[in-house]
Amino acid sequence: MFDKVLIANRGEIALRIQRACKELGIATVAVHSTADADAMHVRLADESVCIGSPPASDSYLNIPRLLAACEITGADAVHPGYGFLSENARFAEILEEHSITFIGPTSEHIRIMGDKIQAKETAKKLGIPVVPGSDGAVRSEAQAMKIAKEMGFPVLIKATAGGGGRGMKVAHSAADLGIALATAKSEAKAAFGNDSVYIEKYLQKPRHIEIQVFGDGKGNAVHLGERDCSLQRRHQKILEESPSPALNAEARERIGNVVANAMREIKYRGAGTVEFLYEDGEFYFIEMNTRLQVEHPVTEQITGIDLVLEQIRVASGGHLSFKQEDITFSGHAIECRINAENPRTFRPSPGQITYWHPPGGLGVRVDSGVYQGYRIPPFYDSLIGKLIVHGKNRNECLMRLRRALSEFVIDGIETTIPLFNELIRQPDITNGLYDIHWLEKYLGKS
Ligand code: ADP
Repeated sequence: MFDKVLIANRGEIALRIQRACKELGIATVAVHSTADADAMHVRLADESVCIGSPPASDSYLNIPRLLAACEITGADAVHPGYGFLSENARFAEILEEHSITFIGPTSEHIRIMGDKIQAKETAKKLGIPVVPGSDGAVRSEAQAMKIAKEMGFPVLIKATAGGGGRGMKVAHSAADLGIALATAKSEAKAAFGNDSVYIEKYLQKPRHIEIQVFGDGKGNAVHLGERDCSLQRRHQKILEESPSPALNAEARERIGNVVANAMREIKYRGAGTVEFLYEDGEFYFIEMNTRLQVEHPVTEQITGIDLVLEQIRVASGGHLSFKQEDITFSGHAIECRINAENPRTFRPSPGQITYWHPPGGLGVRVDSGVYQGYRIPPFYDSLIGKLIVHGKNRNECLMRLRRALSEFVIDGIETTIPLFNELIRQPDITNGLYDIHWLEKYLGKS
């Protein structure tokens, strides 16, 4: 097992990883920018290193500085969390070259899945159903038009290097295609430095259903059920739940087994998420994330498995500590992403938290990196915490969620709590009847 883990991240996820290290008796190193000197992840770590100025490129994304921090502190492994360098194959490689373990999959798997075209081809070869679309990148508008006409409009133009919902444009008809293609390309170029795009059939009313997988890199792999992340705004998840109100046990088992078999075949190591759109009883692969997800606690609550602990165990060379038949699903869990944002316009609301009272009680978990008096810096994403609620069924979970949300007080800044208070009273939400477009329609109407 490792002696010391450096956590190349900030906020709630840095704390989440520290907690797992603590349970395993591993010392922790926090890194931080000058804007984060007072952050909770710095206060609670055994050691901390300031790695640069506020822009992420000077600190949390700066590989030489992270390496120096490992060398100064003698860390023997790095946990990247999510975002930042978590899906950077080069970072994983450089660490390995310096005999520091990257807590995550092999750089080869990160690289394949980070290129959405290669990921789709790999998925197809492994027997995973994919969204119909172009075979690889589209090279010209004429080629795009030919494919779109064959498939039928609407179509979606997506960036090969995409992520975070950027570089994605819908073309509803042939007249829209030229502009959609040009905008997607320029957005992709600006965001990822790569303007390669491909085309997919645009599904009209799908749900976003993702399967949590876990492998030990030795050919053992399992699935841990699904998460339904259909409540989205601008392709960004707002609320996640498991099990999905739209799946039955047979559908779960069927897709879970397809995905787990695929992970066994490629000898996948660590935690991963295979994302699907689900429409009319069919699953369509969209991408695989080769890291821990923001919404992983939902799965932890219904399986009782600590995913971060298992990531560390497997990275240190251990076998998976459970088999597929050991995994059971119990009750229902829902996560609300608490963002420092205006609940209507979603404009970021950095500033000082003057009062902080998180909810408690049976079935309630709050993963957060903030505290009363903390000043939220304006440089990073606006997630300040996650409220995760568990109950023996969806009804009980919703009852507890209403109670927990009503207790949650955050003053001094705006948050998305009022939006959740509203949403959990909408019949479509309480009945589980929502697709990926539901939230935007709701926000447009209200
Ligand atoms: P990113 O990596 O940028 O998050 P994804 O491929 O994971 O991109 O897609 C993000 C979201 O975009 C999905 O959850 C879904 O809401 C929407 N989306 C992606 N592909 C399609 C599609 N073919 N049809 C309809 N919506 C899609």
